[in-house]
Amino acid sequence: MKCKSLWDGVLEFFYPPRCLLCRNIVPPGRECCEACEKALLPANWSVRMIEPETGKTFVCVAPDPYDGPLRKAMLDFKFHNMPKHARFFAQRIFSQLRQSPFLTRADFVASVPLSRERLRQRGYNQSERIARELAALAGLPYFTVLEKHVENREQHRLHKKDRRQNVRGVYRILPGVPVEGCRILLVDDILTTGATLGECAAVLYAAGAKEVLCAAACRVSAQPESISC
Ligand SMILES: [Zn+2]
Repeated sequence: MKCKSLWDGVLEFFYPPRCLLCRNIVPPGRECCEACEKALLPANWSVRMIEPETGKTFVCVAPDPYDGPLRKAMLDFKFHNMPKHARFFAQRIFSQLRQSPFLTRADFVASVPLSRERLRQRGYNQSERIARELAALAGLPYFTVLEKHVENREQHRLHKKDRRQNVRGVYRILPGVPVEGCRILLVDDILTTGATLGECAAVLYAAGAKEVLCAAACRVSAQPESISC
């Protein structure tokens, strides 16, 4: 037995993997127990977002509501140093998208970036973690193409009407990253008004992207099927 697998075995003995929803012990390699997985009924939203400045429309898919145990798992993922939850959220998005023709024509997966300060505080970008896992599941490359170069106020603290203005101009394409003519699957953690994804998609289109499909792990429900972001 190699050192790494021996050490993994010791860790698993003392800290067995647990279901991220109910905390029961699960077999190695599983994030969620069978009972919880059966109880999760995906909403599989496909929301048309309208960028009010340009009138351009984007589609954003989101498999699950930001509610109940999934909301708690997302909060653990983002704020309690549980980056391994990314695989579970990526699997949920992949289950929704696996029949989509977009996956067969997409060039790569990208994610909504964090500011440098937020990345330093959290230690990882949760959206990037989901995007990388999703890319692996879909057999696509992952590229970091966007950066957040302005520190703005936190979106969830703002009223809907202020969110679009708050994200305007805060994202840009990284120097030397070609997106022209590309079809991009753009990933975020939570879809609320769509302002953040809408702004990032607009930046990608302005840089010459051919097609952008947005995907979020969870959606704040009680929103209309077509939203102005
Ligand atoms: Zn469970």
